[in-house]
Amino acid sequence: MGNSVNESFFFFENYKTLVYSSLGTLILLMSFIAVLLFYIWKIKRMKKELEENHKELTELYEELASTDEEVRAQYEELACTQETLTNTEERYRLVLESTNDAIWDIDFNTGNIYLSEKWYELLGYNPEECEQSIWFWRKFVQPDDIHQIFKALKQHLKNKVPYFNCEFRIKNVHGDYIWIRSRGKAQYDSEGKVYRVMGSHMDITELKDYEAELQYVAYHDALTGLNNRLYLYDTIGLYLSQHKNSNTMDAMLFIDTDNFKFVNDTLGHSFGDKFLLMVAMRLLTFTGDNCELFRLGGDEFIIYIKNAENKSAIEAYANKIIDSFSEPFNIDGNSISTSVSIGISLFPYDGTDVDTLLKYADMAMYKVKERGKNGFRFYNSILNDEIQARVKIEKHLRKALENNEFILHYQPQVNVQTKKVEAFEALVRWQSPELGLVSPLKFIHVAEETGFIVPLGEWILKNSCQFLKALNAAKGTDYKVSVNISVMQLLQDNFTDMVERILADTGLSPSLLELEITESIIMESPDLIVGKLKLLREKGISIALDDFGTGYSSLAYLRKIPITTLKIDKLFIDDISSAGCNTSLTDSIIDLGHKIGLTIVAEGVETNDQLEYLESNNCDIIQGYLFSKPLPPSEIHRIL
Ligand code: C2E
Ligand code: MG
Ligand code: MG
Repeated sequence: MGNSVNESFFFFENYKTLVYSSLGTLILLMSFIAVLLFYIWKIKRMKKELEENHKELTELYEELASTDEEVRAQYEELACTQETLTNTEERYRLVLESTNDAIWDIDFNTGNIYLSEKWYELLGYNPEECEQSIWFWRKFVQPDDIHQIFKALKQHLKNKVPYFNCEFRIKNVHGDYIWIRSRGKAQYDSEGKVYRVMGSHMDITELKDYEAELQYVAYHDALTGLNNRLYLYDTIGLYLSQHKNSNTMDAMLFIDTDNFKFVNDTLGHSFGDKFLLMVAMRLLTFTGDNCELFRLGGDEFIIYIKNAENKSAIEAYANKIIDSFSEPFNIDGNSISTSVSIGISLFPYDGTDVDTLLKYADMAMYKVKERGKNGFRFYNSILNDEIQARVKIEKHLRKALENNEFILHYQPQVNVQTKKVEAFEALVRWQSPELGLVSPLKFIHVAEETGFIVPLGEWILKNSCQFLKALNAAKGTDYKVSVNISVMQLLQDNFTDMVERILADTGLSPSLLELEITESIIMESPDLIVGKLKLLREKGISIALDDFGTGYSSLAYLRKIPITTLKIDKLFIDDISSAGCNTSLTDSIIDLGHKIGLTIVAEGVETNDQLEYLESNNCDIIQGYLFSKPLPPSEIHRIL
């Protein structure tokens, strides 16, 4: 029992031990498993975390990589910018060094100015001696130009123009001004305030000199060096536009020489040029502060008088000019006389612009020419006096023929060699009960314009032929008669018939009749008139060219017209003075006239000097106060 108990106990004890050990093992095993499971879980979690971390890391890496790329790109861009900057700086430096322009750069906040080396080179200043301030720089600018620099700058700063642009003068180290063209541009800060203006200076002195030269050429007449028409329009035009409202009186004098065309055609162009130069020089003596002379072209000159005292002062001035021309010119040993015709318009009464003043002064000048030249006229007087006088003449002229108010005077023409009267020029006079004795110079042109000259001319021709026929019959002579003919008459279809009829009616031989025509008549309608003149010549009638030298024809032209006689105008006879010049226009005319077979008559001979001269130069006939004035028929009988 004991044993069994022991045994059982032992067994039991063993069993217990076994159980215990198994249990321990189990527990151990389980613990192990638990630990293992824990670790597996842990590992799994860690793995998961790791995976997540990896994923995050990858993302981070990717992000990093892209940032890196961005950084690299930015870096590259930076490098590029740096290069551009370097290039720009280089270029800027190169521009500064290679350009001929000087560079300036003004800091608007401080007033400091930077001027490039070229600037100092251009003007010769030493940079060390110059203050770098705009106020210092301003000292060099020509004071008259400062205003326009500021004006140009203001315009640019107000955004009216994209650039500052200005031309002005600046003094160099030698004290001479050089011309600068300045161009620049302003820079603005974020608030739109200017903080800097930078630009260049270019030396344009040469260009300006060239421009001035061109301007001189454009504004001056090549022959006389006087201001020309363009200059007149520009300067007087500007002056007038600025003085439109002023209450001063200005005068425009249109001056035309009376025989230039003739001098030019007869003595040649180079002589004509010298003649014009002398005229210009004489006119120049009348200019001054308020009077400027211009050459309009040809032989036309303008004197513009500013601020004239009054009308009589202008009159006195015009008279002085006219008087000065009584002294002949001496050109290459030739004594040449000329006179001038002056037309005057007044500012602001006649016009307020150059065109109008010029037009009216020209019209007034033509009126002077019409009335025998060598004088002056105001434009406004033409309107007043002339229109009134003309109206009166026209009114009374109509009845004058019916009322027998015309008479003919005869002026003897004397042979220079024999001193005997050979012919008479018939000159009409009008003894009007209303107007008194009217000069033909006053009414012939009215008669021409109204057509009245046709019946009047016929009356003159008939009466003079009658008178000569009777005179010759009474005295047993064969004096010729010269009758002035107007263009209107010559243009009549029946003119030649009329002349023939009168000759037949009066019985005067055609060889004793001479018709006087002027150059302007021929110019009117050359073919028609030359044809008629030929017809008259064929009948044996002589043709004289009257007032030769005052019109437009040259000696060369004379060959083409069928004339027999040349009447040298009084103007050239006046040229012959006691001073005794060997050569003058007159002897050229006589010579050339003789060469083409013409008889030469000198008109308006008043002195013995003139007679002697004409005698020694083989003039054929003289007519003038020296022998006799035009006389009424009764007087003619007496003197003969
Ligand atoms: P013209 O035909 O050239 O006539 C010459 C003019 O000179 C005349 O003026 C005459 O009196 C003037 N005269 C002559 N000798 C001298 C002189 O020594 N000294 C000066 N100072 N003058 C002198 P007049 O008679 O006053 O005639 C002026 C013009 O009127 C004439 O110039 C002519 O163009 C025109 N005329 C005159 N009578 C007639 C006419 O019957 N018919 C036409 N169609 N025109 C005429
Ligand atoms: Mg005549
Ligand atoms: Mg004449």
